[in-house]
Amino acid sequence: MDQLGRTSETPKSPWGGCPPAMPSCSLSDVMSEELARQLEEENKAFPSLTNPEVSLLSGEETDTNSDLMLARLLQMQYDRECDTQLRREERKYNGESKVSISFENYRTAHPYDGSESSEDEVDWQDTRDDPYKPDKPQVTPRKGFTGKGKNITTKHDEVLCGRKNTARMDNFAPEVLVGDGLGMDLKLSNQVFNSLKQHCHSEQRRSARLHDKKEHSTAEQAVDPRTRLLMYKMVSAGTLERINGCISTGKESVVFHANGGMLEEQPVPEEVVLKVFKTTLNEFKNRDRYIKDDYRFKDRFSKLNPRKIIRLWAEKEMHNLARMKKAGIPCPEVALLRKHILVLSFIGKDHVPAPKLKDTMLGAADMKTAYYQVLQMMQQLYQECNLVHADLSEYNMLWHQGQVWLIDVSQSVEPSHPHGLQFLFRDCTNVSTFFQKRGVAEAMSVYELFNCVTGLDLTINEEDEAEFLAQIEALEKRNEDHVQKRGKKTFPLSSWDGSPPLKHAADD
Ligand code: ADP
Ligand code: MG
Repeated sequence: MDQLGRTSETPKSPWGGCPPAMPSCSLSDVMSEELARQLEEENKAFPSLTNPEVSLLSGEETDTNSDLMLARLLQMQYDRECDTQLRREERKYNGESKVSISFENYRTAHPYDGSESSEDEVDWQDTRDDPYKPDKPQVTPRKGFTGKGKNITTKHDEVLCGRKNTARMDNFAPEVLVGDGLGMDLKLSNQVFNSLKQHCHSEQRRSARLHDKKEHSTAEQAVDPRTRLLMYKMVSAGTLERINGCISTGKESVVFHANGGMLEEQPVPEEVVLKVFKTTLNEFKNRDRYIKDDYRFKDRFSKLNPRKIIRLWAEKEMHNLARMKKAGIPCPEVALLRKHILVLSFIGKDHVPAPKLKDTMLGAADMKTAYYQVLQMMQQLYQECNLVHADLSEYNMLWHQGQVWLIDVSQSVEPSHPHGLQFLFRDCTNVSTFFQKRGVAEAMSVYELFNCVTGLDLTINEEDEAEFLAQIEALEKRNEDHVQKRGKKTFPLSSWDGSPPLKHAADD
């Protein structure tokens, strides 16, 4: 039993306030089973429960409060101190002796670097170094027996085998409590040993699956334990004064309202949002192409594990917002990026977020104003920020203080992205359809809007979308060829006058 009064079988809150975790069976969980299996395959040789935060937090209830989190932090600290002491004793005990005895099995917190490493939560995935690798089994000489004459002992000797089997239990995963069989001269028959081993393996697989499910899924209303810990740390460090509640749970993110505190002696805005990128990887898989073909992130993408890729999304949103801010486009300001959590200025007032454009009931004049603002923002985004929103619609535009604010730009790409112009065409379709439906007579057709935003002069045949799309694809293809041929990362589409890209002035 540890300081929190937990036993290894029954992890519980000391205050008993949390309901028992219910096995979830939402679609995302079922999907993450698949992922768990895949990751398990990859990490088969490297048992996953090597990080103390992980082992501490896994298997816990999904509901929490800061007292519990605080207790966990204290527990972690205590465990670490115990381990340091144990290590000292181990060194003292072994001294200079050639044969050393390991106290490994008595450690509570498993290998921990003790630092506030930014990588702490994923390192177990990357570490190819398994501290619990079983020792090589003792080999019986080839001849199959030892000793001489009457004292021959074969490898089938029951007593010897039994003892060996008992010793082998030491190689079971550290969370399996094997007791001191050797001290008691316990002899395990092969049959018993095999079934113990089998049980041990299936338990490990089961716990890895559960663990993965918990760690990789961000539940509908809440976030996973590690994210909660990160959020808690922001509050305990004073960066945030408090976290109030959830504004939105989308497919890719959960957004919380919070009150800012101080960060490096600078005040964080009074009202902020925490955009937590979901660690449910499935959702992001569909969106890989927004990031893996983005030359800015391409190299890093290929080298990262899925969890780190989620962080890349947050980082990408931060960079895109910075460009937008520079161009003077109304959008949230970034206060802080911490792993997969982005702290942004709040668009709204007194805890009430600004409504999405789709939820507003604007009069004709305001709607017209909004339309022209959107048009201008799209042009600025394309021409000044060199960006295409790629998910622009009435859902990602907020109406605040008489103007439209653009949000949700984690997927935004540069126009030179292999599908950048197609994404822009989709944005134009959403914008034009929305404003036309809302009765803005001035709203251009999707084709006119596309040409107006890009400054291109593609041939328009209102009846023939396929023809327009074919022109877009041809442009993208030429751009790709250009990039390959010239080894350039970008083609300056934004300043392009419409002539074929390969003959663009910039080439000469
Ligand atoms: P998702 O990728 O999940 O759609 P969004 O960035 O669009 O994430 O955020 C989801 C919702 O959260 C938005 O529709 C909006 O209502 C709210 N929201 C996001 N950012 C802010 C912000 N800075 N201020 C106020 N509300 C916000
Ligand atoms: Mg959105």
